[in-house]
Amino acid sequence: MIDIVSLYSFELEKLLTDNGFQKFRANQVLSWLKKGVLSFSQMTNIPADLIGFLETNCYISHAEIERKLVSKIDHTVKYLFSFNDNECVESVVMKYHHGYTICISTQVGCKMGCTFCATGMSGYSRDLTASEMLAQIVSAQKDLEIRISNVVLMGMGEPLDNFDNVIKFLNIVSSEQSLNIGMRHITLSTCGVVPKIYDLADMKLQLTLSVSLHAPTDYIRSTTMPINKAYSISELIRACKYYIEKTKRRISFEYAMIDSVNDTDECARKLADLLSGMLCHVNLIPVNSVKGTEYVKSNIQRQQSFVEILGKKGVTATVRRTLGSDINASCGQLKRKHKEGGI
Ligand code: SAH
Ligand code: SF4
Repeated sequence: MIDIVSLYSFELEKLLTDNGFQKFRANQVLSWLKKGVLSFSQMTNIPADLIGFLETNCYISHAEIERKLVSKIDHTVKYLFSFNDNECVESVVMKYHHGYTICISTQVGCKMGCTFCATGMSGYSRDLTASEMLAQIVSAQKDLEIRISNVVLMGMGEPLDNFDNVIKFLNIVSSEQSLNIGMRHITLSTCGVVPKIYDLADMKLQLTLSVSLHAPTDYIRSTTMPINKAYSISELIRACKYYIEKTKRRISFEYAMIDSVNDTDECARKLADLLSGMLCHVNLIPVNSVKGTEYVKSNIQRQQSFVEILGKKGVTATVRRTLGSDINASCGQLKRKHKEGGI
């Protein structure tokens, strides 16, 4: 069976014309798919013989809502979606002044094993297909009756560890026939899979790259992020500089502040030295406490001190506003609770 949502429009056109159907039918089918229809028979302007052909040869990937939590504080919505094989991932929809942003997952679980991350702690099952990434957006839009304008690949999984599917997703989601969400409205977050950062840079996509740095020295970073043992901070920064040079895009560095682990003034000074002169911005995030870890978020004074020290060396930094704090909006936590029978 063909995963129809993962097809580029030219591939769908070819499939249809090769089988004796008119080319313009592809656009009709695509406009139904982006509305989130669950079966081909719901495509009311499509002739019966084409519906029959599609039913025999294709399937529609769908993200089924298993759980939905709505924040009483800021209306952030968190979904637990399941796919055809019952594997689940999380997505979060946030409302900002410029519109709705969705944070989607790219894998079921993650292999990277960062010690502060709920997803990392629960292991890896499989990669998501491009259609399963799209389906998260389509399901959320349909459920909330909204148009989502921005996408961040910051949910469960490491996007650059599922490179081909992620690139396919990016190309489809940004195309006019699909959801038409431009690359400038998309952010991809990575823990630092260095060779793939070079590959991404060479593609010169206009997306925002967000790099989860979280530590200014290899010693600290290797204890919290195992990927650092494969690619050191200096290799990562070199790749980031290459990315900036190729794309002329500013990089966001994510830095989860953990009490007494990575939040001393010395850490801030080292971070500033590492990043000064780069086209970048630092997002400081007080770490979310995750069951099973001892990590505690840094206090306000530490956060302010970081912003000041970085600022003095010309590195702009902001403390990220936390949305959905009452629904555990950071990814990986809802799925764990669900598995443990907590929700
Ligand atoms: N794998 C990618 C994207 C998914 S993780 C990456 O690591 O970048 C999305 C972001 O959430 C990353 O910046 C990650 O470091 C951060 N994160 C994970 N657990 C967290 C926690 N407990 N508190 C704060 N940020 C966390
Ligand atoms: Fe994977 Fe990102 Fe979590 Fe690390 S922080 S375990 S890379 S999802």
